[in-house]
Amino acid sequence: MGQAAILTVDDDPSVSRAIARDLRRRYGDRYRIVRASSGAEALEVLRELKLRGSRVAVMLADYRMPQMNGIEFLEEAMDLFPFARRALLTAYADTDAAIQAINVVDVDHYLLKPWDPPEEKLYPVLDSLLDAWQATGDREQPDIRVVGHRWSEPSFQIRDFLARNLVPYRYFGADEPEGRRLLEAAEAGPEAVPLVVTADGRALSRPTVQEVARAAGLSTDPGRDFYDLIIVGGGPAGLGAAVYGGSEGLKTLLIERQAVGGQAGQSSRIENYLGFPDGISGAQLTDRARRQADKFAAETLTTREVVGLRTDGSARTLTFADGGEVSAHAVVLATGVSYRPLLADGVAGLTGSGVFYGSAATEGPACAGTDVYIVGGANSAGQAALFFSRYARRVTLLVRGDSLEASMSYYLIQQLAQVENIEVRTRCEVVGAQGTGHLQAITVCDSKNGTKATVECGYLFVFIGAEPRTDWLGDTVLRDERGFIRTGPDLLVGGERPRGWDRDRDPFYLESSVPGIFAAGDVRASSVKRVASAVGEGAMAVALVHRYLEA
Ligand SMILES: Cc1cc2nc3c(=O)[nH]c(=O)nc-3n(C[C@H](O)[C@H](O)[C@H](O)COP(=O)(O)OP(=O)(O)OC[C@H]3O[C@@H](n4cnc5c(N)ncnc54)[C@H](O)[C@@H]3O)c2cc1C
Repeated sequence: MGQAAILTVDDDPSVSRAIARDLRRRYGDRYRIVRASSGAEALEVLRELKLRGSRVAVMLADYRMPQMNGIEFLEEAMDLFPFARRALLTAYADTDAAIQAINVVDVDHYLLKPWDPPEEKLYPVLDSLLDAWQATGDREQPDIRVVGHRWSEPSFQIRDFLARNLVPYRYFGADEPEGRRLLEAAEAGPEAVPLVVTADGRALSRPTVQEVARAAGLSTDPGRDFYDLIIVGGGPAGLGAAVYGGSEGLKTLLIERQAVGGQAGQSSRIENYLGFPDGISGAQLTDRARRQADKFAAETLTTREVVGLRTDGSARTLTFADGGEVSAHAVVLATGVSYRPLLADGVAGLTGSGVFYGSAATEGPACAGTDVYIVGGANSAGQAALFFSRYARRVTLLVRGDSLEASMSYYLIQQLAQVENIEVRTRCEVVGAQGTGHLQAITVCDSKNGTKATVECGYLFVFIGAEPRTDWLGDTVLRDERGFIRTGPDLLVGGERPRGWDRDRDPFYLESSVPGIFAAGDVRASSVKRVASAVGEGAMAVALVHRYLEA
Protein backbone atom coordinates (compact mmCIF):
# COMPACT_ATOMS: atom_id res chain seq x y z
CA MET A 1 0.00 0.00 0.00
CA GLY A 2 1.41 3.45 -0.99
CA GLN A 3 1.95 6.45 1.22
CA ALA A 4 -1.13 7.86 2.92
CA ALA A 5 -2.12 11.39 1.92
CA ILE A 6 -2.37 14.67 3.77
CA LEU A 7 -4.84 16.82 1.85
CA THR A 8 -5.02 20.61 2.08
CA VAL A 9 -7.76 22.76 0.57
CA ASP A 10 -7.44 26.52 0.24
CA ASP A 11 -8.78 28.89 -2.39
CA ASP A 12 -6.00 31.43 -1.78
CA PRO A 13 -3.07 30.26 -3.96
CA SER A 14 -0.37 31.83 -1.77
CA VAL A 15 -1.77 30.26 1.44
CA SER A 16 -2.21 26.96 -0.35
CA ARG A 17 1.41 26.97 -1.57
CA ALA A 18 2.72 27.98 1.84
CA ILE A 19 0.94 25.29 3.77
CA ALA A 20 1.82 22.59 1.25
CA ARG A 21 5.47 23.72 1.44
CA ASP A 22 5.51 23.54 5.26
CA LEU A 23 3.79 20.17 5.27
CA ARG A 24 6.16 18.77 2.65
CA ARG A 25 9.18 19.94 4.63
CA ARG A 26 8.19 17.96 7.69
CA TYR A 27 6.05 15.08 6.41
CA GLY A 28 7.00 14.79 2.72
CA ASP A 29 9.16 11.70 3.26
CA ARG A 30 6.31 9.72 4.88
CA TYR A 31 3.11 11.18 3.44
CA ARG A 32 1.92 12.35 0.06
CA ILE A 33 0.98 16.02 0.32
CA VAL A 34 -1.98 16.72 -1.96
CA ARG A 35 -3.49 20.18 -2.44
CA ALA A 36 -6.69 21.50 -3.97
CA SER A 37 -8.00 25.02 -4.52
CA SER A 38 -11.69 24.48 -3.78
CA GLY A 39 -13.98 22.12 -1.91
CA ALA A 40 -15.32 20.69 -5.17
CA GLU A 41 -11.83 20.02 -6.52
CA ALA A 42 -10.77 18.43 -3.21
CA LEU A 43 -13.80 16.12 -3.27
CA GLU A 44 -12.86 15.10 -6.80
CA VAL A 45 -9.31 14.32 -5.61
CA LEU A 46 -10.68 12.29 -2.70
CA ARG A 47 -12.92 10.28 -5.01
CA GLU A 48 -9.90 9.44 -7.16
CA LEU A 49 -7.86 8.44 -4.12
CA LYS A 50 -10.73 6.25 -2.95
CA LEU A 51 -10.97 4.49 -6.30
CA ARG A 52 -7.24 3.85 -6.30
CA GLY A 53 -7.50 2.32 -2.82
CA SER A 54 -5.28 5.05 -1.29
CA ARG A 55 -5.51 6.17 2.31
CA VAL A 56 -5.99 9.68 3.64
CA ALA A 57 -4.54 10.47 7.07
CA VAL A 58 -5.43 14.14 7.56
CA MET A 59 -7.63 16.67 5.76
CA LEU A 60 -6.90 20.35 6.40
CA ALA A 61 -9.46 22.78 4.97
CA ASP A 62 -9.68 26.54 4.98
CA TYR A 63 -12.89 27.71 6.67
CA ARG A 64 -13.71 30.65 4.41
CA MET A 65 -13.92 29.50 0.80
CA PRO A 66 -16.47 30.54 -1.86
CA GLN A 67 -19.18 28.05 -2.95
CA MET A 68 -18.32 25.43 -0.35
CA ASN A 69 -16.78 26.44 3.00
CA GLY A 70 -14.37 24.27 4.95
CA ILE A 71 -17.03 22.81 7.22
CA GLU A 72 -19.28 21.87 4.29
CA PHE A 73 -16.32 20.28 2.55
CA LEU A 74 -15.25 18.27 5.62
CA GLU A 75 -18.80 17.07 6.14
CA GLU A 76 -18.91 15.63 2.61
CA ALA A 77 -15.32 14.39 2.76
CA MET A 78 -16.17 12.31 5.84
CA ASP A 79 -18.43 10.15 3.70
CA LEU A 80 -15.42 9.17 1.60
CA PHE A 81 -12.75 8.92 4.29
CA PRO A 82 -14.52 8.73 7.66
CA PHE A 83 -11.36 7.90 9.63
CA ALA A 84 -9.13 10.66 8.27
CA ARG A 85 -8.44 13.25 10.96
CA ARG A 86 -9.90 16.68 10.22
CA ALA A 87 -8.65 20.20 10.87
CA LEU A 88 -9.96 23.61 9.94
CA LEU A 89 -7.80 26.59 9.03
CA THR A 90 -9.31 29.89 10.12
CA ALA A 91 -8.49 33.55 10.27
CA TYR A 92 -8.65 35.07 13.75
CA ALA A 93 -11.81 37.02 12.85
CA ASP A 94 -13.61 33.78 11.95
CA THR A 95 -12.77 31.92 15.13
CA ASP A 96 -16.22 32.26 16.67
CA ALA A 97 -18.01 31.21 13.52
CA ALA A 98 -15.65 28.27 13.13
CA ILE A 99 -16.18 27.12 16.71
CA GLN A 100 -19.95 27.30 16.30
CA ALA A 101 -19.68 25.26 13.12
CA ILE A 102 -17.33 22.78 14.72
CA ASN A 103 -20.03 21.98 17.23
CA VAL A 104 -22.08 20.55 14.43
CA VAL A 105 -19.34 18.68 12.52
CA ASP A 106 -16.81 16.49 14.25
CA VAL A 107 -13.61 18.42 13.54
CA ASP A 108 -10.49 17.46 15.52
CA HIS A 109 -8.78 20.85 15.59
CA TYR A 110 -8.79 24.36 14.26
CA LEU A 111 -5.60 26.14 13.31
CA LEU A 112 -5.18 29.88 13.18
CA LYS A 113 -3.66 31.66 10.19
CA PRO A 114 -0.82 32.53 10.00
CA TRP A 115 0.75 29.44 11.54
CA ASP A 116 4.30 30.82 11.84
CA PRO A 117 6.50 29.43 13.18
CA PRO A 118 5.19 26.04 12.00
CA GLU A 119 7.36 24.24 14.59
CA GLU A 120 5.17 25.79 17.29
CA LYS A 121 1.80 26.28 15.69
CA LEU A 122 1.38 23.77 12.88
CA TYR A 123 3.52 20.69 13.48
CA PRO A 124 2.42 19.88 17.05
CA VAL A 125 -1.21 19.78 15.89
CA LEU A 126 -0.39 17.75 12.78
CA ASP A 127 1.83 15.39 14.81
CA SER A 128 -0.98 14.64 17.21
CA LEU A 129 -3.50 14.14 14.39
CA LEU A 130 -1.12 11.78 12.58
CA ASP A 131 -0.34 9.92 15.80
CA ALA A 132 -4.01 9.42 16.45
CA TRP A 133 -4.63 8.27 12.88
CA GLN A 134 -1.72 5.84 13.03
CA ALA A 135 -2.71 4.47 16.43
CA THR A 136 -6.01 3.28 15.07
CA GLY A 137 -4.26 1.63 12.13
CA ASP A 138 -5.82 1.28 8.76
CA ARG A 139 -9.36 1.58 9.95
CA GLU A 140 -10.79 1.04 6.53
CA GLN A 141 -9.66 -2.56 6.63
CA PRO A 142 -10.92 -3.57 10.07
CA ASP A 143 -10.19 -7.13 10.95
CA ILE A 144 -13.09 -7.86 13.24
CA ARG A 145 -16.47 -8.53 11.73
CA VAL A 146 -19.66 -8.73 13.73
CA VAL A 147 -22.87 -10.33 12.49
CA GLY A 148 -25.88 -9.34 14.53
CA HIS A 149 -29.52 -8.39 14.65
CA ARG A 150 -30.35 -4.70 14.61
CA TRP A 151 -32.61 -4.84 17.63
CA SER A 152 -30.87 -7.44 19.72
CA GLU A 153 -29.41 -6.42 23.08
CA PRO A 154 -26.40 -8.84 22.90
CA SER A 155 -25.54 -7.58 19.39
CA PHE A 156 -25.73 -3.99 20.63
CA GLN A 157 -23.51 -4.80 23.64
CA ILE A 158 -20.76 -6.12 21.39
CA ARG A 159 -20.91 -3.22 18.94
CA ASP A 160 -21.03 -0.71 21.78
CA PHE A 161 -18.11 -2.39 23.52
CA LEU A 162 -15.94 -2.36 20.37
CA ALA A 163 -16.88 1.23 19.54
CA ARG A 164 -16.23 2.51 23.07
CA ASN A 165 -12.87 0.76 23.14
CA LEU A 166 -12.08 2.32 19.74
CA VAL A 167 -11.58 -1.09 18.15
CA PRO A 168 -12.30 -0.92 14.41
CA TYR A 169 -14.86 -3.45 13.25
CA ARG A 170 -17.37 -4.01 10.50
CA TYR A 171 -20.97 -4.81 11.29
CA PHE A 172 -23.36 -6.83 9.13
CA GLY A 173 -27.00 -7.57 9.78
CA ALA A 174 -27.73 -11.32 9.86
CA ASP A 175 -30.23 -10.72 7.05
CA GLU A 176 -27.74 -8.89 4.78
CA PRO A 177 -25.95 -10.88 2.05
CA GLU A 178 -22.49 -10.52 3.69
CA GLY A 179 -23.94 -11.40 7.11
CA ARG A 180 -25.52 -14.54 5.63
CA ARG A 181 -22.25 -15.44 3.88
CA LEU A 182 -20.29 -15.14 7.14
CA LEU A 183 -22.83 -17.25 9.02
CA GLU A 184 -22.67 -19.87 6.29
CA ALA A 185 -18.85 -19.88 6.30
CA ALA A 186 -18.93 -20.38 10.07
CA GLU A 187 -21.48 -23.19 9.57
CA ALA A 188 -23.69 -21.34 12.01
CA GLY A 189 -27.43 -20.82 12.05
CA PRO A 190 -29.40 -17.76 13.11
CA GLU A 191 -29.17 -18.93 16.74
CA ALA A 192 -25.39 -18.27 16.61
CA VAL A 193 -25.93 -14.50 16.37
CA PRO A 194 -24.18 -12.33 17.46
CA LEU A 195 -21.25 -13.89 15.67
CA VAL A 196 -17.81 -12.31 15.89
CA VAL A 197 -15.23 -13.24 13.25
CA THR A 198 -11.75 -12.44 14.54
CA ALA A 199 -8.73 -11.14 12.64
CA ASP A 200 -7.30 -14.65 12.37
CA GLY A 201 -10.57 -16.06 11.07
CA ARG A 202 -12.02 -17.65 14.22
CA ALA A 203 -15.78 -17.48 14.53
CA LEU A 204 -17.07 -16.81 18.05
CA SER A 205 -20.75 -17.46 18.49
CA ARG A 206 -22.54 -15.40 21.16
CA PRO A 207 -19.25 -14.46 22.82
CA THR A 208 -18.98 -12.66 26.14
CA VAL A 209 -17.50 -9.15 26.00
CA GLN A 210 -14.42 -10.56 27.67
CA GLU A 211 -13.94 -13.04 24.82
CA VAL A 212 -14.43 -10.17 22.37
CA ALA A 213 -11.89 -8.06 24.30
CA ARG A 214 -9.31 -10.85 24.07
CA ALA A 215 -10.02 -11.33 20.38
CA ALA A 216 -9.46 -7.61 19.85
CA GLY A 217 -6.09 -7.78 21.58
CA LEU A 218 -7.21 -5.87 24.69
CA SER A 219 -5.56 -6.92 27.88
CA THR A 220 -7.83 -8.67 30.40
CA ASP A 221 -5.37 -10.26 32.86
CA PRO A 222 -2.87 -8.55 35.15
CA GLY A 223 0.79 -9.13 34.34
CA ARG A 224 1.79 -9.51 38.00
CA ASP A 225 0.22 -10.30 41.40
CA PHE A 226 1.34 -7.21 43.26
CA TYR A 227 1.47 -3.52 42.25
CA ASP A 228 2.38 -0.23 43.89
CA LEU A 229 -0.95 1.22 42.86
CA ILE A 230 -4.21 -0.24 41.56
CA ILE A 231 -6.88 2.04 40.18
CA VAL A 232 -10.45 0.78 39.89
CA GLY A 233 -12.39 2.49 37.08
CA GLY A 234 -11.08 3.77 33.74
CA GLY A 235 -12.94 7.10 33.42
CA PRO A 236 -11.15 10.47 33.45
CA ALA A 237 -10.26 10.15 37.16
CA GLY A 238 -8.84 6.64 36.73
CA LEU A 239 -6.99 7.54 33.54
CA GLY A 240 -5.63 10.69 35.21
CA ALA A 241 -4.34 8.57 38.10
CA ALA A 242 -2.87 5.98 35.70
CA VAL A 243 -0.94 8.60 33.72
CA TYR A 244 0.47 10.22 36.87
CA GLY A 245 1.11 6.88 38.62
CA GLY A 246 2.92 5.45 35.59
CA SER A 247 4.86 8.63 34.84
CA GLU A 248 6.09 8.82 38.42
CA GLY A 249 7.48 5.32 38.35
CA LEU A 250 4.79 3.49 40.33
CA LYS A 251 3.94 -0.02 39.10
CA THR A 252 0.39 0.85 38.17
CA LEU A 253 -2.62 -1.24 37.17
CA LEU A 254 -5.92 0.23 35.93
CA ILE A 255 -8.95 -2.06 36.07
CA GLU A 256 -12.02 -1.20 33.99
CA ARG A 257 -15.17 -3.30 33.86
CA GLN A 258 -16.28 -2.13 30.41
CA ALA A 259 -14.45 0.36 28.25
CA VAL A 260 -11.98 3.02 29.27
CA GLY A 261 -13.26 6.58 29.02
CA GLY A 262 -16.15 6.13 31.45
CA GLN A 263 -18.96 8.63 31.07
CA ALA A 264 -16.68 11.08 29.32
CA GLY A 265 -16.03 8.48 26.62
CA GLN A 266 -19.72 8.73 25.73
CA SER A 267 -19.69 12.48 25.28
CA SER A 268 -20.03 13.65 21.70
CA ARG A 269 -18.16 16.89 22.44
CA ILE A 270 -16.66 18.17 25.66
CA GLU A 271 -16.33 21.91 25.35
CA ASN A 272 -15.32 22.99 28.82
CA TYR A 273 -12.14 20.95 29.26
CA LEU A 274 -9.10 23.16 29.62
CA GLY A 275 -6.82 23.34 26.60
CA PHE A 276 -9.40 22.35 23.97
CA PRO A 277 -11.02 25.64 22.92
CA ASP A 278 -12.68 23.97 19.95
CA GLY A 279 -13.93 21.07 22.08
CA ILE A 280 -12.94 17.43 21.95
CA SER A 281 -15.05 14.33 21.59
CA GLY A 282 -15.05 11.85 24.45
CA ALA A 283 -13.66 9.19 22.11
CA GLN A 284 -10.68 11.35 21.17
CA LEU A 285 -9.96 12.33 24.75
CA THR A 286 -10.10 8.68 25.80
CA ASP A 287 -7.91 7.61 22.92
CA ARG A 288 -5.25 10.17 23.87
CA ALA A 289 -5.43 9.39 27.59
CA ARG A 290 -5.16 5.66 26.99
CA ARG A 291 -2.12 6.11 24.76
CA GLN A 292 -0.58 8.38 27.36
CA ALA A 293 -1.13 5.78 30.11
CA ASP A 294 0.41 3.11 27.83
CA LYS A 295 3.39 5.35 27.17
CA PHE A 296 4.09 5.52 30.89
CA ALA A 297 3.76 1.73 31.22
CA ALA A 298 0.56 1.77 33.28
CA GLU A 299 -1.18 -1.56 32.61
CA THR A 300 -4.86 -1.38 31.64
CA LEU A 301 -7.35 -4.23 31.91
CA THR A 302 -10.79 -4.05 30.35
CA THR A 303 -13.90 -6.17 30.97
CA ARG A 304 -12.80 -6.98 34.54
CA GLU A 305 -15.20 -5.90 37.25
CA VAL A 306 -13.98 -5.51 40.80
CA VAL A 307 -16.43 -6.81 43.40
CA GLY A 308 -14.43 -6.92 46.62
CA LEU A 309 -11.77 -5.01 48.52
CA ARG A 310 -10.04 -5.99 51.77
CA THR A 311 -6.95 -5.06 53.72
CA ASP A 312 -4.35 -7.77 54.36
CA GLY A 313 -1.90 -6.02 56.69
CA SER A 314 -0.27 -3.35 54.55
CA ALA A 315 -1.61 -4.87 51.31
CA ARG A 316 -4.92 -3.87 49.72
CA THR A 317 -6.49 -6.79 47.85
CA LEU A 318 -9.14 -6.60 45.14
CA THR A 319 -11.36 -9.46 43.99
CA PHE A 320 -12.64 -9.81 40.43
CA ALA A 321 -16.25 -10.74 39.65
CA ASP A 322 -15.09 -13.72 37.59
CA GLY A 323 -12.59 -14.93 40.18
CA GLY A 324 -9.00 -14.07 40.89
CA GLU A 325 -7.38 -11.43 43.06
CA VAL A 326 -4.71 -8.81 42.74
CA SER A 327 -3.03 -6.70 45.45
CA ALA A 328 -1.20 -3.42 45.86
CA HIS A 329 0.26 -1.07 48.41
CA ALA A 330 -2.40 1.53 47.58
CA VAL A 331 -5.75 1.69 45.77
CA VAL A 332 -7.58 4.55 44.07
CA LEU A 333 -11.33 4.00 43.68
CA ALA A 334 -12.46 5.90 40.59
CA THR A 335 -15.65 4.05 39.75
CA GLY A 336 -17.72 7.13 38.88
CA VAL A 337 -21.49 6.94 38.58
CA SER A 338 -23.98 5.07 36.39
CA TYR A 339 -27.49 5.98 35.32
CA ARG A 340 -30.49 4.87 37.34
CA PRO A 341 -32.93 2.64 35.48
CA LEU A 342 -36.03 4.39 34.15
CA LEU A 343 -38.89 2.77 36.02
CA ALA A 344 -41.74 2.95 33.56
CA ASP A 345 -43.90 0.15 32.13
CA GLY A 346 -42.26 -1.74 29.30
CA VAL A 347 -38.88 0.00 29.49
CA ALA A 348 -36.88 -2.85 31.03
CA GLY A 349 -37.90 -5.31 28.27
CA LEU A 350 -36.86 -2.90 25.51
CA THR A 351 -33.46 -1.91 26.93
CA GLY A 352 -30.89 -2.37 24.20
CA SER A 353 -33.68 -2.62 21.61
CA GLY A 354 -34.42 1.06 21.21
CA VAL A 355 -34.02 2.10 24.86
CA PHE A 356 -30.45 2.99 25.81
CA TYR A 357 -28.77 4.32 28.95
CA GLY A 358 -26.32 7.07 28.13
CA SER A 359 -25.35 8.06 24.68
CA ALA A 360 -25.04 5.07 22.32
CA ALA A 361 -23.08 6.78 19.57
CA THR A 362 -23.10 3.57 17.50
CA GLU A 363 -26.83 4.12 17.00
CA GLY A 364 -26.41 7.60 15.46
CA PRO A 365 -26.66 6.62 11.78
CA ALA A 366 -29.46 4.12 12.52
CA CYS A 367 -31.55 6.98 13.93
CA ALA A 368 -31.70 8.63 10.50
CA GLY A 369 -35.20 9.91 9.82
CA THR A 370 -36.67 8.67 13.11
CA ASP A 371 -38.07 10.48 16.15
CA VAL A 372 -35.61 10.33 19.03
CA TYR A 373 -36.51 11.11 22.65
CA ILE A 374 -33.97 11.94 25.33
CA VAL A 375 -34.78 11.87 29.03
CA GLY A 376 -32.83 14.16 31.34
CA GLY A 377 -31.96 17.79 31.87
CA ALA A 378 -28.20 17.76 32.51
CA ASN A 379 -25.32 18.52 30.15
CA SER A 380 -25.05 14.87 29.14
CA ALA A 381 -28.65 14.93 27.84
CA GLY A 382 -28.07 18.26 26.06
CA GLN A 383 -24.99 16.94 24.28
CA ALA A 384 -26.84 13.82 23.25
CA ALA A 385 -29.66 15.95 21.81
CA LEU A 386 -27.16 17.89 19.68
CA PHE A 387 -25.47 14.67 18.55
CA PHE A 388 -28.65 12.84 17.54
CA SER A 389 -30.15 15.92 15.89
CA ARG A 390 -27.60 15.40 13.11
CA TYR A 391 -29.29 12.12 12.20
CA ALA A 392 -32.84 12.10 13.53
CA ARG A 393 -35.91 13.73 12.00
CA ARG A 394 -36.76 15.21 15.35
CA VAL A 395 -35.19 15.10 18.81
CA THR A 396 -37.32 15.80 21.88
CA LEU A 397 -35.70 16.42 25.21
CA LEU A 398 -38.01 15.44 28.06
CA VAL A 399 -37.14 17.27 31.26
CA ARG A 400 -38.85 16.63 34.58
CA GLY A 401 -38.05 20.09 36.01
CA ASP A 402 -39.52 23.48 35.14
CA SER A 403 -36.58 24.54 33.00
CA LEU A 404 -33.10 23.56 31.88
CA GLU A 405 -31.39 26.50 33.57
CA ALA A 406 -30.91 24.76 36.91
CA SER A 407 -29.25 21.67 35.48
CA MET A 408 -27.59 22.48 32.15
CA SER A 409 -24.72 24.80 31.18
CA TYR A 410 -25.72 28.07 29.57
CA TYR A 411 -23.69 27.43 26.41
CA LEU A 412 -25.54 24.16 25.76
CA ILE A 413 -28.97 25.72 26.30
CA GLN A 414 -28.02 28.34 23.72
CA GLN A 415 -26.88 25.71 21.25
CA LEU A 416 -30.04 23.63 21.67
CA ALA A 417 -32.15 26.70 20.94
CA GLN A 418 -30.39 27.15 17.62
CA VAL A 419 -31.06 23.68 16.25
CA GLU A 420 -34.33 23.50 14.39
CA ASN A 421 -35.16 19.83 14.89
CA ILE A 422 -34.70 19.89 18.68
CA GLU A 423 -37.64 20.49 20.98
CA VAL A 424 -37.35 20.86 24.75
CA ARG A 425 -40.39 19.80 26.77
CA THR A 426 -40.31 20.62 30.47
CA ARG A 427 -42.30 18.96 33.28
CA CYS A 428 -42.66 15.83 31.18
CA GLU A 429 -41.94 12.23 32.11
CA VAL A 430 -41.95 8.91 30.27
CA VAL A 431 -44.49 6.61 31.89
CA GLY A 432 -44.50 3.72 29.43
CA ALA A 433 -42.73 2.19 26.44
CA GLN A 434 -44.26 -0.05 23.81
CA GLY A 435 -42.99 -2.16 20.94
CA THR A 436 -42.76 -5.69 19.61
CA GLY A 437 -39.13 -6.75 19.43
CA HIS A 438 -38.00 -3.14 19.55
CA LEU A 439 -39.19 0.23 20.77
CA GLN A 440 -41.97 1.74 18.67
CA ALA A 441 -43.77 4.20 20.97
CA ILE A 442 -43.58 5.83 24.36
CA THR A 443 -46.21 7.34 26.62
CA VAL A 444 -45.35 10.78 27.94
CA CYS A 445 -47.09 12.43 30.87
CA ASP A 446 -47.13 16.23 30.76
CA SER A 447 -47.66 17.49 34.30
CA LYS A 448 -48.32 21.05 33.10
CA ASN A 449 -51.77 20.02 31.97
CA GLY A 450 -51.99 16.51 33.43
CA THR A 451 -52.28 14.83 29.99
CA LYS A 452 -50.80 11.57 28.79
CA ALA A 453 -50.01 10.97 25.13
CA THR A 454 -48.54 8.01 23.28
CA VAL A 455 -46.14 9.06 20.54
CA GLU A 456 -44.14 7.22 17.89
CA CYS A 457 -40.55 6.78 19.04
CA GLY A 458 -37.76 4.62 17.63
CA TYR A 459 -35.05 5.56 20.09
CA LEU A 460 -35.12 6.61 23.73
CA PHE A 461 -31.88 7.64 25.44
CA VAL A 462 -31.99 7.92 29.22
CA PHE A 463 -29.74 10.23 31.25
CA ILE A 464 -31.24 10.33 34.73
CA GLY A 465 -30.25 9.86 38.33
CA ALA A 466 -26.55 9.08 38.22
CA GLU A 467 -25.72 6.83 41.18
CA PRO A 468 -22.36 5.59 42.46
CA ARG A 469 -23.17 1.81 42.62
CA THR A 470 -20.65 1.13 45.36
CA ASP A 471 -22.60 -1.56 47.24
CA TRP A 472 -19.80 -4.02 46.59
CA LEU A 473 -17.63 -2.02 49.00
CA GLY A 474 -19.92 -2.95 51.92
CA ASP A 475 -18.45 -1.62 55.14
CA THR A 476 -14.87 -1.59 53.90
CA VAL A 477 -14.84 2.19 53.53
CA LEU A 478 -17.27 4.79 54.86
CA ARG A 479 -19.85 5.97 52.33
CA ASP A 480 -22.62 8.55 52.58
CA GLU A 481 -26.33 7.67 52.52
CA ARG A 482 -26.33 7.67 48.68
CA GLY A 483 -23.24 5.46 48.42
CA PHE A 484 -20.62 8.12 47.59
CA ILE A 485 -17.26 7.50 49.28
CA ARG A 486 -16.35 9.85 52.09
CA THR A 487 -12.81 11.17 52.08
CA GLY A 488 -10.45 13.54 53.92
CA PRO A 489 -12.07 16.27 56.02
CA ASP A 490 -15.54 14.71 55.43
CA LEU A 491 -14.48 11.82 57.66
CA LEU A 492 -13.78 13.96 60.70
CA VAL A 493 -16.93 14.17 62.76
CA GLY A 494 -16.60 16.71 65.56
CA GLY A 495 -12.86 16.55 65.03
CA GLU A 496 -12.84 12.77 65.62
CA ARG A 497 -11.09 10.47 63.16
CA PRO A 498 -13.09 7.54 61.70
CA ARG A 499 -13.45 4.39 63.75
CA GLY A 500 -10.59 1.93 63.19
CA TRP A 501 -8.27 4.65 61.83
CA ASP A 502 -4.78 3.55 62.94
CA ARG A 503 -2.51 6.45 61.94
CA ASP A 504 -1.40 9.41 64.02
CA ARG A 505 -2.46 11.81 61.28
CA ASP A 506 -5.79 12.82 59.77
CA PRO A 507 -6.85 11.15 56.50
CA PHE A 508 -5.34 12.91 53.48
CA TYR A 509 -7.72 15.00 51.38
CA LEU A 510 -8.78 12.16 49.00
CA GLU A 511 -8.13 9.29 51.41
CA SER A 512 -11.02 7.11 52.53
CA SER A 513 -11.64 5.80 56.06
CA VAL A 514 -9.00 3.13 55.38
CA PRO A 515 -5.39 4.36 55.04
CA GLY A 516 -4.00 3.74 51.56
CA ILE A 517 -7.42 3.56 49.90
CA PHE A 518 -8.26 6.76 48.03
CA ALA A 519 -11.27 7.94 46.03
CA ALA A 520 -11.23 10.28 43.03
CA GLY A 521 -13.80 11.72 40.64
CA ASP A 522 -17.58 11.37 40.60
CA VAL A 523 -17.66 8.49 43.10
CA ARG A 524 -16.28 10.70 45.85
CA ALA A 525 -18.77 12.40 48.17
CA SER A 526 -18.99 16.14 47.49
CA SER A 527 -17.00 15.93 44.24
CA VAL A 528 -17.69 18.23 41.31
CA LYS A 529 -19.13 16.14 38.51
CA ARG A 530 -16.88 17.31 35.69
CA VAL A 531 -14.16 15.87 33.47
CA ALA A 532 -11.55 18.42 34.55
CA SER A 533 -12.13 17.87 38.25
CA ALA A 534 -12.08 14.08 37.82
CA VAL A 535 -8.75 14.25 35.97
CA GLY A 536 -7.41 16.66 38.59
CA GLU A 537 -8.45 14.42 41.45
CA GLY A 538 -6.86 11.41 39.74
CA ALA A 539 -3.57 13.28 39.54
CA MET A 540 -3.87 14.56 43.09
CA ALA A 541 -4.65 11.08 44.43
CA VAL A 542 -1.29 9.89 43.08
CA ALA A 543 0.54 12.67 44.93
CA LEU A 544 -1.23 11.56 48.12
CA VAL A 545 -0.38 7.90 47.40
CA HIS A 546 3.29 8.96 47.36
CA ARG A 547 2.88 10.64 50.74
CA TYR A 548 1.16 7.52 52.09
CA LEU A 549 3.93 5.26 50.78
CA GLU A 550 6.66 7.48 52.21
CA ALA A 551 5.22 7.46 55.73
C1 LIG B 1 -22.80 11.99 27.83
C2 LIG B 1 -22.02 12.76 28.87
C3 LIG B 1 -21.50 14.01 28.57
C4 LIG B 1 -20.74 14.72 29.51
N1 LIG B 1 -20.22 15.93 29.15
C5 LIG B 1 -19.41 16.59 30.00
C6 LIG B 1 -18.80 17.81 29.61
O1 LIG B 1 -18.98 18.30 28.50
N2 LIG B 1 -17.97 18.41 30.49
C7 LIG B 1 -17.71 17.91 31.74
O2 LIG B 1 -16.90 18.49 32.45
N3 LIG B 1 -18.31 16.77 32.14
C8 LIG B 1 -19.15 16.10 31.31
N4 LIG B 1 -19.77 14.94 31.72
C9 LIG B 1 -19.48 14.43 33.08
C10 LIG B 1 -18.13 13.73 33.11
O3 LIG B 1 -18.04 12.83 32.02
C11 LIG B 1 -17.93 13.00 34.43
O4 LIG B 1 -17.96 13.93 35.47
C12 LIG B 1 -16.59 12.24 34.44
O5 LIG B 1 -16.55 11.27 33.41
C13 LIG B 1 -16.36 11.55 35.78
O6 LIG B 1 -15.20 10.80 35.68
P1 LIG B 1 -14.91 9.58 36.66
O7 LIG B 1 -13.62 8.97 36.19
O8 LIG B 1 -15.01 10.02 38.05
O9 LIG B 1 -16.09 8.54 36.45
P2 LIG B 1 -16.71 7.84 35.17
O10 LIG B 1 -16.50 8.64 33.96
O11 LIG B 1 -18.10 7.49 35.57
O12 LIG B 1 -15.85 6.50 35.02
C14 LIG B 1 -15.93 5.46 35.94
C15 LIG B 1 -15.47 4.16 35.30
O13 LIG B 1 -15.38 3.16 36.30
C16 LIG B 1 -15.83 1.92 35.78
N5 LIG B 1 -16.26 1.08 36.92
C17 LIG B 1 -17.31 1.31 37.75
N6 LIG B 1 -17.38 0.34 38.69
C18 LIG B 1 -16.36 -0.53 38.42
C19 LIG B 1 -15.91 -1.74 39.05
N7 LIG B 1 -16.53 -2.24 40.13
N8 LIG B 1 -14.87 -2.38 38.50
C20 LIG B 1 -14.21 -1.87 37.41
N9 LIG B 1 -14.59 -0.73 36.80
C21 LIG B 1 -15.65 -0.06 37.29
C22 LIG B 1 -16.98 2.33 34.88
O14 LIG B 1 -17.25 1.33 33.90
C23 LIG B 1 -16.45 3.63 34.26
O15 LIG B 1 -15.76 3.41 33.05
C24 LIG B 1 -20.53 14.20 30.82
C25 LIG B 1 -21.10 12.96 31.14
C26 LIG B 1 -21.83 12.24 30.19
C27 LIG B 1 -22.42 10.91 30.55
